[in-house]
Amino acid sequence: MPMISVNIDSLVPDFVKRFEPYVPSRPDDVLKRFYGCDTLYRMNNNENPLGSPPSAAEVVRKFPPPSASIYPSGDSFHLCNELARHLQVSPEQVIVGNGANEVIAFVIKAFCREGDNIVTADKTFAVYEWLAEFSGFEARLVPLREYSFDEQGLLDHINARTKIIFICNPNNPTGTYWSREQLESFLDQVDGRWIVVVDEAYFEFCTARDYPDGIRLIERYPNLVVFRTFSKMYGLAGLRIGYLVGSPELVQEVRRTVVVYSVNSVAQQAAVAALNDDAGHLSRSRDMVARGKEFLEGELSALGLEVVSGQGNFVMAKLPISDAYVYQKLMAKGVMVRTMTGFRFPNWIRITISHPEALQACTRHLGRILEQSDPDKGRERG
Ligand code: PMP
Repeated sequence: MPMISVNIDSLVPDFVKRFEPYVPSRPDDVLKRFYGCDTLYRMNNNENPLGSPPSAAEVVRKFPPPSASIYPSGDSFHLCNELARHLQVSPEQVIVGNGANEVIAFVIKAFCREGDNIVTADKTFAVYEWLAEFSGFEARLVPLREYSFDEQGLLDHINARTKIIFICNPNNPTGTYWSREQLESFLDQVDGRWIVVVDEAYFEFCTARDYPDGIRLIERYPNLVVFRTFSKMYGLAGLRIGYLVGSPELVQEVRRTVVVYSVNSVAQQAAVAALNDDAGHLSRSRDMVARGKEFLEGELSALGLEVVSGQGNFVMAKLPISDAYVYQKLMAKGVMVRTMTGFRFPNWIRITISHPEALQACTRHLGRILEQSDPDKGRERG
């Protein structure tokens, strides 16, 4: 039988063609083999090296295999109720998704139509921009000001076709944040005309006294949507579960675009357990991050590097040489960091705060790599 000829290319919209597929890093076993290392310290994805709270880990361990044959609750019923109780909102204000990534898509689909745009920063979590662009909507990007979201810049980039403004608070990768006062001032200026998303993926790590809980502002600002995730503090990144919270009238609209059954049963049950865990895991994780950040800031500065560090479980450092080169050299030592050139921070790396031994390995090897690549130091050694 002859093969049917199809011109697939002609079927693809230009705004999709412009996109290069994202290349995720290879699984750990493949990386270890490739780089020839026995252990791998993962400090590239802002995961919690302490894992999930013990009760959530127990749910995963004991998940009954017959439940795998049954569809999950399509709207994460029990988890929505638990979240509502914890966050003091009503269950109808919550939508759970397959990671916070999926809820970004729900919001864009709900509000944008052809010709519309979203506004966000140029150097922030890239998925807002990507999702908008490969869905055919312009992403209007506003330069950061002193590594932070620029309130006036965002307002200046809004035009007649703007629908959503995305604010990452604290910002990934810079760790800068808007205080409650700044966020309220921005929402007052927006004055209900556009949807404002505040992505609080790192909420549970934030310790600054004036860092705002966006959910408490929803009653006053019904155009506000807050994102959170179980991937970071709660250590459930592999199960893919995150959520949004908004006013009942807004969430009712977003719910139209939700793909039911996208959140699996194990994730839903583990998330309920994680929420109900005693404070032990959260405070242990925060302590680890506080100590690790102090160590890392000190060591990286001692290496003569510019360091940007704020809220969240990560810090950034600017290298005098190629970030891709340093990545490869560190990988050979079993240390995995995030290169930032692709995120518009040329030759910066982002390092997730981890156990002391991981951080020590990172700074020790980084120091050696920088030394070996320094031509002056090389001459000194003869
Ligand atoms: N928002 C921010 C700011 C993030 O850093 C991340 C993950 N890196 C996400 C959202 C996506 O989280 P999830 O794993 O829940 O999709």
